[in-house]
Amino acid sequence: MTSSFVTEDFDASKWENIEPYANDLLTRELTCSGCLERLIKDSSTLAEHVSEAGTLLSIAMTCDTENSSKLQSYLDFVENVQPKLSEFADALNRRMAGHPAVEELPSRYDLMIKCIRTDIGIFREENIPLQVEEAKLETEHSTITGAMMVEYDGEEKTLPQMAIYLEDTDRSVRESAWRAITARMEQDAERLSEIYDELIRIRHQIATNAGFDDYRFYIFEAKHRYDYSLDDCLQFHDSIESVCVPLMHQIHGERRTALDVEALRPWDVGEKSGGGVDIHGRSPLQPFDTVDELISGCSNIFHSMSPELGGMFDMLKERDSLDLESRKGKAPGGYQANLEKTRIPFIFMNAAGTQGDLMTMVHEAGHAFHSCYSSELDLIDERNPPLEFAEVASMSMELMSHPEWGEFYSEEEARRAKADHLEKIVCFMPWMATIDAFQHWVYANPEHSREERAEHWLELRRRFGPKTDWSGFEDLKETSWQGQLHLFQVPFYYVEYGIAQLGALQLWQYHRRDASDALSRYARAMSLGNTKPLPELFGAAGLNLGFGEEHVGSLIGELNEALTEIQA
Ligand SMILES: [Zn+2]
Repeated sequence: MTSSFVTEDFDASKWENIEPYANDLLTRELTCSGCLERLIKDSSTLAEHVSEAGTLLSIAMTCDTENSSKLQSYLDFVENVQPKLSEFADALNRRMAGHPAVEELPSRYDLMIKCIRTDIGIFREENIPLQVEEAKLETEHSTITGAMMVEYDGEEKTLPQMAIYLEDTDRSVRESAWRAITARMEQDAERLSEIYDELIRIRHQIATNAGFDDYRFYIFEAKHRYDYSLDDCLQFHDSIESVCVPLMHQIHGERRTALDVEALRPWDVGEKSGGGVDIHGRSPLQPFDTVDELISGCSNIFHSMSPELGGMFDMLKERDSLDLESRKGKAPGGYQANLEKTRIPFIFMNAAGTQGDLMTMVHEAGHAFHSCYSSELDLIDERNPPLEFAEVASMSMELMSHPEWGEFYSEEEARRAKADHLEKIVCFMPWMATIDAFQHWVYANPEHSREERAEHWLELRRRFGPKTDWSGFEDLKETSWQGQLHLFQVPFYYVEYGIAQLGALQLWQYHRRDASDALSRYARAMSLGNTKPLPELFGAAGLNLGFGEEHVGSLIGELNEALTEIQA
């Protein structure tokens, strides 16, 4: 073994290469708390290499879903390396947490040991093959949705490329685009329902194997949600229902009046977060044509906010860490991934020139800044913050960049884009509550039939959704949850966006009063990575973690004031 524990050229995509290092960690002599610290450090180094190998394979696959050898390499990793890693991680966890010297470790390791003890508590060997099955179904979901193309306007288009037609001022264009998209999704609706049925069955089995009544309790543990409960989520849904839903209806009412239509149809307003066609009949905002324009404009935005952020963003371009344009065979969506060994973030998205694409870029850049700020922290576990805080980094960047949007827009266009963004925050919260409440119900009632699932979905749509007229498309409305990738691929990852949005809005309040103060709060909190519990991460930036109606009401209240100012 080298002094840095693993050699630099070590290929961690193959188990036979990982195994000798894993064996060393599992068998080396541990006589003191210093040896235990060394073990933690070395296992972090190994985890960095393995994580980076897996991330690179996943990036290669999502950038080119039609390339069967890239898919195969990723699947090899999922099927042959990850199960062995889970087993190894559990053995290592037990070795660390069970060692008498664990009590002598400095407090720096408290959170990590707490997480390790949770992971030991829920680990079951018989869940490993189930998790492999789960990952394969998730990959099939990616392949199915990545292959969705629509014949429109004489061309084959990806679904992200179709987004722009849903903002067309000609209602018949919007309708035909919406019909084309949903018809394409309908072709795979049966298989997607089967995949979801199967995922629910597998996940429930994983939970009961681990001794839980159902998957909700399992996933709260697995996600280390120590600082809020199932009941807090339900309270959050109630707060959103009383604060955001009425405001959303008001916003949609104005939309209906301005568009001069009897009822909003699904092509008149975005299902997930409102928005859609401009209500004053202006063409969709087109902040950029090419990906190069997007990159150089964002570089200017971040440099104007602070030289530090600008420098971090430029580094991504220089290191070739951006894959931004939409093309056939690329998985949908956008993400930021960390390359843990090289400690460089990677950003993936499907840019087609819309305001939404600009927001995605700024959002993912916020994640990348978070990675940069925490990149100096020693251990992999210390650098990966909980998602409830990770999304504060990205969502607050969307809001705090408002004053710089002139980079892409005239003054009037910028006002319009900001109003659109603020309205979407209001309207997104009810959608978030819908998705979260849906998952709570789905996993609390794992034996449900598809009819019951549809019925409950529609009930949630009535509680939280816009008063959109779906007549003629009732079947589609019943399965409209299928458009939400998270339900398939990252179960219960959604309330984090709502929790984080509350944090982002608080940072935005600071930023409205004193921009540089807000950015130093941002830097201070983001530099902590994952070294503190969630309430302390919020606290480091001066933010409160809360779910009550009063808290939500005061934040959305200030947002609404800002919205009124912009629109005046
Ligand atoms: Zn994000």
